[in-house]
Amino acid sequence: MAAPLNTVITGSTSGIGLGIATAFAAKGWNVMLNGFGDAGEIEGVRAGLEDKYGVKVLYNGADMTKPEEIRNLIAEAETAFGQVDVLVNNAGIQHVSPVEDFPEEKWNAIIAINLSSAFHTTKAAFAGMKKRKFGRIINVASAHGLIASPFKSAYVAAKHGIVGFTKTIALEGAEHGVTCNAICPGYVKTPLVEKQIPDTAKARGMTEEEVVHKVILEAQPTKQFVTVEQIGALAIFLCSEDAAQITGAAHQIDGGWVAH
Ligand code: NAD
Repeated sequence: MAAPLNTVITGSTSGIGLGIATAFAAKGWNVMLNGFGDAGEIEGVRAGLEDKYGVKVLYNGADMTKPEEIRNLIAEAETAFGQVDVLVNNAGIQHVSPVEDFPEEKWNAIIAINLSSAFHTTKAAFAGMKKRKFGRIINVASAHGLIASPFKSAYVAAKHGIVGFTKTIALEGAEHGVTCNAICPGYVKTPLVEKQIPDTAKARGMTEEEVVHKVILEAQPTKQFVTVEQIGALAIFLCSEDAAQITGAAHQIDGGWVAH
């Protein structure tokens, strides 16, 4: 049996990141969790995954706005696991507001967490991957990495940015066994989406019920949310040998949203 992969997933205490972490642990891979939340709950998740799947699951609470903490996160994973084979840049936040009212601190935080953190993690993990001639970098972008919606200026800018970053890293890793891909989900029912419903309702002058049906599910031709399990399965495929020639691509998993 092949040795288990050693993985780091930013923003994995909730939502999509936790879904990917669970899929990786179920596959027998070691996982470094990261993200914010209640310390007791995070420890429960960490120990639960470790017990259920018999893999090493660690947690580092690095703040993705702080480059030094990000470097320490990668260094801790390299020390604990011996190496980092898979890096998933997933941490992200959202803020919904017309551009003229968009708070500068929200713009800066979104660019830092949703875009710049991926530069810092990749910079720290890349040399080891190149040296070992194997690495998988997966950036959780968004349908908003490919198309725009009003009132999400920072998010759309950061997500388009990370799709560009993905292509550059793919080229730099191409001859070294290191692939880099973006996953572009449509709407997934996580706390990130649930929290923006009231603000979207305000910005568009709708009720929250109308936002779910007329804005969120209206965007997805299948009229269904994408699930974190479906994203976890795509991430696992991108880590496989079968995906060795898939690099620099932005993979839509959005119920057909970007198709229209
Ligand atoms: P979520 O709110 O459930 O999870 C976000 C995670 O990021 C949490 O673990 C949180 O603690 C962590 N995080 C936030 N700020 C951080 C910081 N400064 N440092 C470290 N960790 C931090 O959201 P989600 O929906 O699971 O989103 C995950 C990713 O998927 C994001 O990049 C998001 O943009 C992207 N995405 C989500 C959707 C969706 O519909 N939910 C769609 C497309 C893309």
